[in-house]
Amino acid sequence: MKYVKTIGLEIHMRIKSETKMFCSCKNAVALAPEANINVCPICMWFPGMLPALNAEVVRLGLIGGMMMNCEVNKYSRFDRKTYFYPDSPNSYQITQLYDPIVWLGSVKTLVNGETREFRIHHMHLENDAWKLIHTWGKTLCDFNRAWSPLMEIVTDPVFHDKEEVMEFLRELQKIMRAAGVSDADMEKGQMRCDVNLSIAPEWAKEWWMRTETKNVNSFSAIWRVIDHEYKRQLKIIESGGEIDQETRGWDDEKWTSTSQRSKEDAMDYRYFPEPDLLPINLTDEFISEARACLVELPIDRRLRYLNEYKLWDDDARILTADKALSDYFEGLVSLTKDPKRSCSYITTILLAIIKESEEINSVSELKFDMKQLARVIELVNWDELSSTNSKQVIEELFNNGGDADLIVDENNLRQKNDTWALEAIVDEVIANFPNQVEDYKGWNENIFGFFVWQSMKASKWQGNPKIFNELLKKKLG
Ligand code: ZN
Ligand code: MN
Repeated sequence: MKYVKTIGLEIHMRIKSETKMFCSCKNAVALAPEANINVCPICMWFPGMLPALNAEVVRLGLIGGMMMNCEVNKYSRFDRKTYFYPDSPNSYQITQLYDPIVWLGSVKTLVNGETREFRIHHMHLENDAWKLIHTWGKTLCDFNRAWSPLMEIVTDPVFHDKEEVMEFLRELQKIMRAAGVSDADMEKGQMRCDVNLSIAPEWAKEWWMRTETKNVNSFSAIWRVIDHEYKRQLKIIESGGEIDQETRGWDDEKWTSTSQRSKEDAMDYRYFPEPDLLPINLTDEFISEARACLVELPIDRRLRYLNEYKLWDDDARILTADKALSDYFEGLVSLTKDPKRSCSYITTILLAIIKESEEINSVSELKFDMKQLARVIELVNWDELSSTNSKQVIEELFNNGGDADLIVDENNLRQKNDTWALEAIVDEVIANFPNQVEDYKGWNENIFGFFVWQSMKASKWQGNPKIFNELLKKKLG
């Protein structure tokens, strides 16, 4: 029998606000250099302390929701979710269960070259817990990320294979980075994923019990979780068993999961409206201010690069990986009017140099003017610079800045296109190598490259190889 799997995701993303969700401590977006340095009596939950909602968190959350094409709830509020786990001193989380800030959205992406849309159930705001460090037989508490703001993005159960899940998550990451809502770096714990999975026979209208695998924190681990959980459930079903609805924990060292608890009812969390915070009533002004911060979706840019600029799929994907890079690319195209060559200069030369460099990590940190790179491309297009030598010019610009034309002339790289002068060189080469000419004419055509090379050498590598080629073909017959 053939089985299909159905997957829904819950994604926690750290919102990139300056300060924490309910106090004015620095929101240590990445790991802080030391434990317990971004803390105060409020986020350490001293008796009598009260939370105060950070408007910046609401604004960024709203932008994130709108970027997923969600409907905005002008009225939303916080609920108290009680649980017993020693990762917070107050034994509850402040979250939004009944009235989340946004809902009913969708995220568009490409899966195997096809445009697909995946439905978002809702996104709500909630606080992060503290961090427990188990060491030397003791447990230490780090409050740096306590009350850091999170978005929890919940999808509908709309995925049926791993590729869909991966493309969706990559797109989500790009969207939130482009909008400046989250850095969404899984390695830094800014993005974590819970995977809900169930299987059913292909003909069935409904699927069986699902399991939830919690806090998977790398793309490759998500891939492994889906594989593992599908096979685990299949094995149980095929041996006549039943799937328990449960929460499982993934061990990425052993590549296996273990049952943590059978699924609690919502009742167990004893949700009730958070009494320490007022509901959020968004004004039209606040909403339109957030709307004004929206940026073009990375997928729309990618489709534009494919359809209008006719770029290869891989290139379009690379160039839309981060907003600074797409902005740079489009800026360069507006100067050169040559999308393909602008793309290849960025992807094959510039990004390679950046990768090697220790001080510069992104196109937004480049020290030379984009106009200079455009000029290099123009010189290549006009045959005044060979593409081989253009790399040297870009390296010089990268390291020391300056002017492309000056660098070309100072290094004697300007290509000679003067046909008369080049013809004299070709004549000389032909006169100097009579044996090879004879060989060539005796049908050894492989030797043609030898004449081009000799001509280039005689021109001190400044002659245009294209013109040498044409002249030699004409003269050698
Ligand atoms: Zn604090
Ligand atoms: Mn959550």
